[in-house]
Amino acid sequence: MGEAVLDRTEVVIVGSGFGALAAAKKLAKAGTPFVLISETTEHLFQPLLYQVATGVLAAGEIAPSVRAILAKYPNADVRLGRVVDVRPDEQVLVYEAAGQRHDLGYKSLIAATGARQSYFGRDEFAKVTYALKTVDDAERLRAQIVRCFEEAHTTTDLERRKNLLSFIVIGAGATGVELAGQIKELAGRYFEQAIRGVTADDVTVTLVEGAGVAMPAYGGKLSEYTKASLEKSGVEVVLNTLVTDIDDHGATFKAHGSDSGERRTAETVVWSAGVQANDFAGVLAERTGCETDRAGRLLVNPDLTVGGRADIFAVGDMTSLNKLPGQSPVAMQGGRHVAKTIIGKTKRGTPFQFKDKGSMAIINRFRAVTKVKSIELTGFVAWVLWLAVHMVYLVGFRNRYVAVMSWFGSFLGHRRPHFYYAQEPQKVLETLAVEEVPDSAPEAIETEVIASVPAGPKEKVAVA
Ligand SMILES: Cc1cc2nc3c(=O)[nH]c(=O)nc-3n(C[C@H](O)[C@H](O)[C@H](O)COP(=O)(O)OP(=O)(O)OC[C@H]3O[C@@H](n4cnc5c(N)ncnc54)[C@H](O)[C@@H]3O)c2cc1C
Repeated sequence: MGEAVLDRTEVVIVGSGFGALAAAKKLAKAGTPFVLISETTEHLFQPLLYQVATGVLAAGEIAPSVRAILAKYPNADVRLGRVVDVRPDEQVLVYEAAGQRHDLGYKSLIAATGARQSYFGRDEFAKVTYALKTVDDAERLRAQIVRCFEEAHTTTDLERRKNLLSFIVIGAGATGVELAGQIKELAGRYFEQAIRGVTADDVTVTLVEGAGVAMPAYGGKLSEYTKASLEKSGVEVVLNTLVTDIDDHGATFKAHGSDSGERRTAETVVWSAGVQANDFAGVLAERTGCETDRAGRLLVNPDLTVGGRADIFAVGDMTSLNKLPGQSPVAMQGGRHVAKTIIGKTKRGTPFQFKDKGSMAIINRFRAVTKVKSIELTGFVAWVLWLAVHMVYLVGFRNRYVAVMSWFGSFLGHRRPHFYYAQEPQKVLETLAVEEVPDSAPEAIETEVIASVPAGPKEKVAVA
């Protein structure tokens, strides 16, 4: 029996995010054969995840299939798989797909596996908080938001109603700010219209941040504007404060310099306080001798090569170079730089030069902050710029068109087309007495519905 022939290609790209897709497009256009392996089938536009969580956009509109994007290039091979190891001396990558381990030979390897949430050593917080990193995260948070408003509408337990309508967002970076602003806006512009009896004033949104300013990456005028705008819209901004404990029904805040903590109750706690590199960064560090920072990011060489290897490159959120921010333009430009190096358009060893075209974050409807070099913009102009830039960078004409239509519906009108939620079967704990039932429900019948009971205070439920 002959030996199995190793599956080989010119370039392997790991990931399907911003860095990976930018590299893939360059290689695809140059006709270089490559395999792109990712553990997700989509190219996720993370900056708009908060709009999926708040019902403005559907997940598919910000997460087109990477296979479809690259379908027209015969030199591109897209595979769904999780990369678990690499043997640099043999130039072999190991990935798992369809329940099997596969070896794949390469001449050049580009890693762009991004980052995930970091809980700063308190991993137990993951179980009691909502995150916003993946499509699943956004859909889970959206279901929770809808559930909270729906249950607040029907519960007769005032304490529980207050908790259902209380939201804590931890971390006042761009994601935390966008989310806090949107949840408050949702209350006033959607639920107040859609649910009788719920007003924006009933809804508490608290944004808590360890630093002394909101949006610490900006600082100065933009941070001040962000805080003032959020407060104007009704979001409570708590600065210089750490969250020391979180459970299913709230969190404990501890202000810097204070001896004691303050307990805040809320049914929804969102964590957007930090990131750490995904696992493959650790594997690459071990196999190539590349050092990492505290967040597990690879301290790559100036030309984006990893450790002592001239054939392994890493880009984007899994890396740290010259204090560049963990933002999509850094990943995209890095991906293009590496692809150009591989196809010979850029001389080997050329340092990566990031061209900073500015950064921006939306605060709420008609308000955003934008920084382009020394130019700082706030308010409506920044918001229009935000819309334009995000429209340009969304992948696919159809997605752009649908997003613009959805933005018109949500920002000018009151539409949230993607709010849906199906109540899980739950055990009824208490029956509302017949005389307490509103006129519309002629009789109350005690029901026993099987399945798990969500933890929480007793609820009064009438089934007519
Ligand atoms: C909620 C949110 C809002 C943001 N807003 C902005 C913004 O407004 N502006 C901005 O510039 N940036 C923003 N960012 C940051 C930006 O999205 C990231 O900087 C960018 O996605 C980094 O690109 P990347 O290619 O390094 O990683 P990612 O885009 O995260 O892609 C990583 C890819 O690797 C895959 N992967 C991971 N591990 C493996 C494995 N072992 N095997 C196979 N595949 C694997 C994943 O499935 C994914 O496809 C935001 C991020 C988030 C989460």
